[in-house]
Amino acid sequence: MKIALYPGSFDPVTFGHLDIIVRGSKIVDKLVVGVLTNSAKSPLFSMEERVRMIKDLTKDMENVEVAAFDGLTVDYARRCGATIILRGLRAVTDFEYELQLAQTNKVIAADIDTIFLTTNLKYSYLSSSTVKEIASFGGDIHAFVPENVMEKMKDRWNR
Ligand code: ADP
Repeated sequence: MKIALYPGSFDPVTFGHLDIIVRGSKIVDKLVVGVLTNSAKSPLFSMEERVRMIKDLTKDMENVEVAAFDGLTVDYARRCGATIILRGLRAVTDFEYELQLAQTNKVIAADIDTIFLTTNLKYSYLSSSTVKEIASFGGDIHAFVPENVMEKMKDRWNR
């Protein structure tokens, strides 16, 4: 059984992430979406909230699981039985960072390969941080995130 781990902060999950989840789930037997708890960034949404939002969105995808993790991605991949780490590439600006990460992971875990899916062109400009910035100023984010995430974002800034 081919298992892949798609790790990220997902703060919050966007249509760009979802597109990678949908496409990734079609090329492996099981896809685990791993939500990082120990991100250096201080997240807008708690780990539980980020996991819950992705679970809601993927509830009909039979081979997708969502869970939180901390520590090394390769250690968590092994615990999941994953031999693949899945990442998304938006632009050349992602490439340098992602390449370094993938190569470092390959040195510390030779049994795990990183596979990249290039972004859907529709979402190539899209990042969680831009969405948060627009939402913080009351801007319309419906083109960037699903309904459940949009509602959560509204709640956050109306408090
Ligand atoms: P991290 O904090 O690990 O970068 P993110 O949640 O920002 O986590 O992103 C997780 C993964 O999803 C990364 O591989 C990132 O490049 C990818 N990603 C983010 N936004 C998009 C998008 N719009 N299209 C495709 N991939 C994306």
